[in-house]
Amino acid sequence: MSDEIVTRLINITGKDNVRINEPMKNHTTFKIGGPAQYYVTPESVTQIQEVVSLCRDMNIPLHVIGNGSNILVGDDGVDGVVLALFNTFSDYEIKDNVITAQAGMSLIKLAVIALREGLTGLEFASGIPGSVGGAVYMNAGAYDGQMKDVVTSVTVLDEAGNIRILGRDELDMGYRTSAVAKHNMIVLQVIIELKAGNKEQIKDRMNQLSELRKQKQPLEYPSAGSTFKRPEGYFAGKLIADAGLKGYSIGGAAVSEKHAGFVVNMGGATAKDVVELTDYIKKRIMEQFGVTLELEVKRIGL
Ligand SMILES: Cc1cc2nc3c(=O)[nH]c(=O)nc-3n(C[C@H](O)[C@H](O)[C@H](O)COP(=O)(O)OP(=O)(O)OC[C@H]3O[C@@H](n4cnc5c(N)ncnc54)[C@H](O)[C@@H]3O)c2cc1C
Repeated sequence: MSDEIVTRLINITGKDNVRINEPMKNHTTFKIGGPAQYYVTPESVTQIQEVVSLCRDMNIPLHVIGNGSNILVGDDGVDGVVLALFNTFSDYEIKDNVITAQAGMSLIKLAVIALREGLTGLEFASGIPGSVGGAVYMNAGAYDGQMKDVVTSVTVLDEAGNIRILGRDELDMGYRTSAVAKHNMIVLQVIIELKAGNKEQIKDRMNQLSELRKQKQPLEYPSAGSTFKRPEGYFAGKLIADAGLKGYSIGGAAVSEKHAGFVVNMGGATAKDVVELTDYIKKRIMEQFGVTLELEVKRIGL
């Protein structure tokens, strides 16, 4: 059975794009995660469609990832196919002030391209280490900007296997969520509309945001960014700091001393360490402040 799956995956994407038992710690910014049974890096929409229909026909679990910057993967790894779009599915095109990008395109690279072209609107994204697809799925945002502000339409593969184009209204982008996430769709291509701007001003804003990140965020340790969503009326980081949990650790996972909203991998952290730590934080914040913390980080294989 597994030999047949490998053969069929290789027939679809080519030998170089299929890996077996691939350690996911090499593909997540947390540097955590056991092996993916089949790690597949498609290069085209057709290949994505064929892998998805193979998984459906053979009842194989399927997990789509971008740059793995917002996921926690279990220590025992992931059954089925991990369809990783970050490197091989990342072409883009610019026409006037409109950028069309495949889902695996790096958001940081896109922000740099926008700067080069003198286009404003993506400065907020210049420090978000995700793919464009993952950023649409999460409606990633920072410093008063979010994907919702710049995305005009998205081509998706829906749950029924149809390719559809969703306009701004249909994308239903909210705080760290979207129609893509709610309806289990796969982002294939994203259209982003920016405005003509002043290169110096765009660069200054990007530098300013980068400085802020360096000052405030524990970029020196592996993490998946903010661990929890912002609970209404509060800031997760402040609640966690106020509970005295800065620096609190379980195994190799710790609440960052620099920014309590980040759980960081201090070295050799396991997914089990992170789960125990985040469960403990949630319990403490509920007991102390009566506030429910919800994970922003998505779990795979857990
Ligand atoms: C240091 C650091 C700083 C960060 N700062 C920010 C920030 O300021 N603001 C912010 O919003 N986030 C931030 N993040 C989190 C993260 O970068 C974003 O959520 C990003 O959008 C995730 O993109 P990704 O490609 O890495 O997605 P992944 O982590 O690979 O996946 C995240 C989710 O999206 C899904 N997904 C990914 N690609 C697709 C696709 N093509 N189609 C359908 N589903 C898909 C996955 O299944 C998963 O559920 C930060 C992370 C780090 C490590």
